[in-house]
Amino acid sequence: MHELSIITSLFEILEEKAKEKKARRITCVKLQVGALSGAVPELLKTAFDFYKKDTLASQAELDIDEIPLKVKCKKCQHETFKDDFIFVCSNCGSSELKILAGTELLLEKIEMEIE
Ligand SMILES: [Zn+2]
Repeated sequence: MHELSIITSLFEILEEKAKEKKARRITCVKLQVGALSGAVPELLKTAFDFYKKDTLASQAELDIDEIPLKVKCKKCQHETFKDDFIFVCSNCGSSELKILAGTELLLEKIEMEIE
């Protein structure tokens, strides 16, 4: 499962950051997950809840910001959000599209309680 390996690396980062800040607890973790990132938000949450037991983040919430796929047509410069993954410009029909957003998989924010 792809999501489990993402969460495993996420926890490595979380533990490192918590140690750095001498945090007592991690209370909230926010991720940006693009529509084209290959990760399914629901599965990320399940993996997170499974993994967080017995860690500093055992009470933490995983907050996911879903980033829609945004493309720009190289021919007519039309910008649009796509939810169908059909890579054709809805304005001129060209298939020469540039992806502007939607591939992210980023750790946006960690909230911690510091002693
Ligand atoms: Zn176009």
